[in-house]
Amino acid sequence: MEWRIVNWFSNMEFPGTLFPLPDDMLNDVAVALLTIFITTVAAAVVAARLYLKKKPKGCLDPEKFVEFKLVKRTKVTHNVARFRFSLPTPTSVLGLPVGHHIRCRGNDSEGEAVIRPYTPITLDSDLGYFELVVKMYPKGRMSHHFREMHEGNFLAVKGPTGRFKYKPGQVRAFGMLAGGTGITPMFQLARAILENPKDKTNLHLIYANHTLEDIILKEELDVFASKFPNHFKVYYVVTQAPTDAWNGGVGHVSKEMIQSHCPSPGPNIQILRCGPAGMNKAMAVHLDAIGYTSEMQFEF
Ligand SMILES: Cc1cc2nc3c(=O)[nH]c(=O)nc-3n(C[C@H](O)[C@H](O)[C@H](O)COP(=O)(O)OP(=O)(O)OC[C@H]3O[C@@H](n4cnc5c(N)ncnc54)[C@H](O)[C@@H]3O)c2cc1C
Repeated sequence: MEWRIVNWFSNMEFPGTLFPLPDDMLNDVAVALLTIFITTVAAAVVAARLYLKKKPKGCLDPEKFVEFKLVKRTKVTHNVARFRFSLPTPTSVLGLPVGHHIRCRGNDSEGEAVIRPYTPITLDSDLGYFELVVKMYPKGRMSHHFREMHEGNFLAVKGPTGRFKYKPGQVRAFGMLAGGTGITPMFQLARAILENPKDKTNLHLIYANHTLEDIILKEELDVFASKFPNHFKVYYVVTQAPTDAWNGGVGHVSKEMIQSHCPSPGPNIQILRCGPAGMNKAMAVHLDAIGYTSEMQFEF
């Protein structure tokens, strides 16, 4: 090897003529140059890998509101709509950790500013846009803002916000107790887990609503259940029994329903809840009574 480097260099025209060096020094120079070359190439490869691996920067700012354009509004039920907002470029990501939410600012019917939290149902694997599913209450202040929003309007958003921490495989199974629009963080987490072939976490969702028609994202949830029968199970509960055949629950979510459809208390499970305040309180009482410790419970 040493001979070859010396030989290669001494065969080159210009080093020999410009810098007439003895063979042993020429070899040192050759080794130094080769080392510099290899180090530079290695550094370039590492830098390129790091650049490609680096998560793209998100579009949210936790300190100030950023405006996003409403590009699509789709009716889901009589008082729920799906809103798609575009990000600055087709490859931009929102930059929202799984299970976190954003704060949206709007004006109520009196023109007063109002800020409320919402959980996008999209993930950072969705490029160029994010989506919200929003229930609009007749007297709700932010509901008024969303009701009045048309495609082309802008929404002011700040974030991300949230306490939930998700790492693939952090528990063996999640039990999920959702009511109404409380499905949004559950849906986001379910997507993150089911779309990651390396994450084998099992999901057991109990989803409560008033009527069958009020169940939002039902089509998507049913697709999860049929596509991932070993990983995702959903049990719907309605307060008003449907007239057609119904294999879900009727009434309020009970202790017995949780025992039948959620993982039993254990060190490697967690029960998540998100719904109206009354439901959250009732679920906490049931969970305590069944024996889930506070570490096994999380409220979004
Ligand atoms: C972390 C988090 C994430 C959320 N994500 C979503 C989401 O993705 N989609 C979504 O639609 N909402 C979501 N919400 C709820 C949302 O923040 C607002 O509370 C909701 O949109 C009502 O706001 P409002 O200003 O219209 O109503 P407000 O002016 O606050 O309330 C006025 C009236 O509306 C009715 N009302 C309001 N909230 C409820 C309720 N939960 N159940 C029954 N009646 C109610 C009551 O009659 C109330 O008196 C989330 C809440 C939290 C805490």
